[in-house]
Amino acid sequence: MAKDYYQILGLAKGASADEIKRAYRKKAHEFHPDKGSGNAEKFKEANEAYQVLGNAEKKQQYDQYGQTFEDAARNGGGGFSGGAGSAYGGNPFGGFDFNGFSAGGGSPFGGGAGGVEFDLGDIFGGIFGGSQRQSGRNRGIDLEMGLTINFEEAVFGAEKTITLEKKDKCKTCSGSGGEPGTKISTCPKCHGQGNIVTTRHTIFGQVQSRAACDRCEGTGKVPEQPCKTCGGAGSLRQEKTIMVKIPAGIDNGQRVRVTGEGEAGYRGSSAGDLYLVVRVLENKDFTRDGNNLLKELPVSFTQAALGAKLIVKTLDGDIELKIPAGTQNATIMKVKSHGVSHIDNPGHRGDLLITVRVITPAKLSKKEKELLKQLAQERGETVQIDDNLWQNIKDSF
Ligand code: ZN
Repeated sequence: MAKDYYQILGLAKGASADEIKRAYRKKAHEFHPDKGSGNAEKFKEANEAYQVLGNAEKKQQYDQYGQTFEDAARNGGGGFSGGAGSAYGGNPFGGFDFNGFSAGGGSPFGGGAGGVEFDLGDIFGGIFGGSQRQSGRNRGIDLEMGLTINFEEAVFGAEKTITLEKKDKCKTCSGSGGEPGTKISTCPKCHGQGNIVTTRHTIFGQVQSRAACDRCEGTGKVPEQPCKTCGGAGSLRQEKTIMVKIPAGIDNGQRVRVTGEGEAGYRGSSAGDLYLVVRVLENKDFTRDGNNLLKELPVSFTQAALGAKLIVKTLDGDIELKIPAGTQNATIMKVKSHGVSHIDNPGHRGDLLITVRVITPAKLSKKEKELLKQLAQERGETVQIDDNLWQNIKDSF
């Protein structure tokens, strides 16, 4: 969590540049290590706070995101691509640990259907990666929903149709909030400023606070005739069906960002994003280990001893697998590029690793038993328990 720079300087959020400068001077004076009241740690903190709040650009980032882009880059590892950034206030999905992974901006998966994109910047923990998006308080909120896909869809990727109910752009006014044909004029309350400054007098002096104009919601503009369908908001709750491209190689718990499919922004401001939390169903024949697929193959002990050609099911269809003579139990046989697609490198796949399970026959016919005894004799092996002895043991209990 980023430090509260306002608190460090003893200020309230929204303090003016002048107030920040004054507060910093006071603190620096008070805590200067050369002073009797000095405190090196607090002096350093005050300096750090002023580095950010005293710089218009950094202050704006800090006010909006709770940290500066520099901090985000330092704390977040890869993923930071220096863009204007998403308006998401902090990374809400900080659960991933993809440290050391350098994710570039932009999507390697192209636009996808209906403006859908899979943004590695998000999956890999960066909050500022990806597209340059309009930000601000009127941006629509981000949505998150679960999406269950089957094992094969995770391995090969899929296009899914999703229906959700959300605040979406009003079709009557195309999101402007104005009745079609009406004039959009400057907000009479804030005179187009978008915010209103109020001054309070306290015993400690004047306190100014700045709030978004409630008449125009900070946009500075109002339609002369509000849209009758949406009441002027530019959006209303409705059902929407979208196509989403799920990238090959996605794993359980990972998220796919669908840009612009969150809730609509206020009066045409940019929409939020939709985050799909993917749940991958299990498969009875295969398990996943990173980009490799694992499978067990039961082989009879005669097949293992003599060798055999077996038909084996893979996710790419049946293949013929040659079991060499003398194969031991737990031998792993690799089928190259029959595993999971690399999510960061489409076209590359892991391997299918098949573990041979040599099965000892549990039930033997009389003839089979006879043949095996002959085999044991031929190999000079002692066969431990004969039927009579086994019966004797059982009878003794
Ligand atoms: Zn409307």
